Amino acid sequence: DLSLGYGKGISRFTEGKRAIHDENLGPLISTEMTRCIQCSRCVRFGDEIAGVRELGLMERGEELEIATYIDATVQSELSGNMIDVCPVGALTSKPYRFTARAWELKQHASIAPHDCLGSNIYIHTRGEIQTPARQVMRVVPRENESINETWISNRDRFSYEAIDSEERVLKPRVKYRGEWQEVSWGVALAEAVHRLDTIIKQSTAAQIGALISPSSTTEECYLLQKIMRQIGSHHIDHRLRHADFPDQAYQDCPTLGFPIADLETLTGLLLVGANVRLEQPIASQRIRKAVKKGAKVMCINPIDYEFNFEVDQKSILGAAEFVGELGAILKILLIQLPKENISNELAQWIAPFELSPTATKIANQLLHAEKTAIILGAYAIGHPDAAMIRLLAEKIAALTKSHIGVLSHGANSAGAWLAGAIPHRTPKTAVDNPGLNAHEMLVKPLRAYLLFGVEPERDSAYPSLALNALKQAECVIALSTFSNDMIADYADIILPMATFAENSGTYVNAEGAWQTMAAATLPYGESQTGVAILCELAKTLHLPGFEYTQTSDILDELKTQLANKTATTNTLNRTDVYPQKTKSAVLYRAGDWPIYHVDSLVRRAKALLQASVLENVSTIRINAVLAKKLHLQADSLVEATQADCKITLPLMIDERVGHNQVWIPSGLEITAGFGEAYGEIELIAGAC
Ligand code: SF4
Repeated sequence: DLSLGYGKGISRFTEGKRAIHDENLGPLISTEMTRCIQCSRCVRFGDEIAGVRELGLMERGEELEIATYIDATVQSELSGNMIDVCPVGALTSKPYRFTARAWELKQHASIAPHDCLGSNIYIHTRGEIQTPARQVMRVVPRENESINETWISNRDRFSYEAIDSEERVLKPRVKYRGEWQEVSWGVALAEAVHRLDTIIKQSTAAQIGALISPSSTTEECYLLQKIMRQIGSHHIDHRLRHADFPDQAYQDCPTLGFPIADLETLTGLLLVGANVRLEQPIASQRIRKAVKKGAKVMCINPIDYEFNFEVDQKSILGAAEFVGELGAILKILLIQLPKENISNELAQWIAPFELSPTATKIANQLLHAEKTAIILGAYAIGHPDAAMIRLLAEKIAALTKSHIGVLSHGANSAGAWLAGAIPHRTPKTAVDNPGLNAHEMLVKPLRAYLLFGVEPERDSAYPSLALNALKQAECVIALSTFSNDMIADYADIILPMATFAENSGTYVNAEGAWQTMAAATLPYGESQTGVAILCELAKTLHLPGFEYTQTSDILDELKTQLANKTATTNTLNRTDVYPQKTKSAVLYRAGDWPIYHVDSLVRRAKALLQASVLENVSTIRINAVLAKKLHLQADSLVEATQADCKITLPLMIDERVGHNQVWIPSGLEITAGFGEAYGEIELIAGAC
């Protein structure tokens, strides 16, 4: 700024400058290597923080250059932070570069909406405040030592690009006799209410279900459940990636149970079904710090995920053996702690499991390390026997005096749970007759659905069920930021919703911190914030109690209810969770969501989409033993079948995949509407 204001009009440097060719580091980072002063901060970031050494100092003396080792692109999920550490702008953000000057921008404190860490960010906008001309230009980290320090993941940094997606809906739309028409808000809401009223009069409100994204704000979750419960339906859920619900009455708000910063002070950690590096990159960075101080990390996973820290013990197991490994750890602990008792049912249930050497080492490590934790990740939460996994993990934690925690889906699973966006609890108390959970709502189709920020064909763990149910429904009202062919096919009314940058609200993160953000800009086009749409919908439905003057009033109302809430029944002697033994001869799918496909916003961010192409996720991956057994060749096209769904993709042999596991990611365009993310699967050779 000083240079611009007071500097010379021309440079006094007349000699020829040293020029270095620019590196291609991929779709996220641009290079201007002539500016590089070879301070090696970017190299040290990769080496010391991200844990992936992708850049290095090549050659020596005058030839010295910053470059990738083998002309590869930078792949680390934290690589965007190199832009911030580079002091001279040799590394810049590719999507943002040359689109604005720093002095044109206004910065707004906000919260990243993609994982349960709730990383603190600044949204930089350009244009007059409170005018439609105001545009989101970039996202950068906001320092918060207790959560994200000074780092954010690439997902949090570049997802803002989707705000300008071509699939963005900017006006309400109603489908009349199969034809979409853009209408005013008044017409769209009146039509929505008319269709819902008709269904309630013809049957009951129990024919209406609501599915809400776990990345919705707490206020949005609270209002949607309030509407549903006032019209007479408890069918509301945010747990679209859960498949096993028998223990829901015993579960509490899904958090880590200890501060995020304490991850780096652990001395022992067991990750169960967690690809923490790609699911919560900032938490992974904290675990890496703990490992550097000597902590031992152990994992039980379906795939030998590449972590950015050293793993001391790992069990890479198929879905059928997964629960058994936890059972074996519990058995070993009971041998070592003979004074401890468990119920007869559980003792009988774990009796047949074999004591593997890895299970023994994990049990010993948890028992003897000073400060230990067990963390359940996305795979454990979505596993067909998730309730049993939770029970066993809680028992093991109790015996080893470990913390037990969850790194949940989306940015606000904890807030959604507290706000009552679950069928069995209001914010205050348990419901006498619980509504249907997300899975039940889709297994047996209802007559009407309210979708809030979700695309169930890509966001749920049962996409084909979701697609069938939505297509059969008489009325699907989608409160959505985007539309595409699939949404246009099953939806009847689309109410355009603002993105996180245009929204105010509160997220409750993995450590239970309530973080409120304000909108950085007005909603684009005629879209509205989720809270505004829900309040107007409630008023059109003539429901009382939605006359809020500001968003904070909603939070105050929720907090009053939470202050008087009844506690969850928490028993370690629950017996209604014992699974039927999973069939070990069957193939199971490990359908996790790749980092740049986790939600509707990320999937539409152009640069992240290009980065995900580099990850080569549209493949079927199995290990060589299974490929040989099924007579499948690498790189050949293979047909995968789940129930009535078929998909054909190239086969990749990947030794990281567990026994009898088939790794086909969820959330991709090609797997939209395919079978269950963690269900049984068959592979057929030679299909084309
Ligand atoms: Fe060069 Fe920037 Fe890396 Fe320093 S941080 S070595 S200036 S590219």
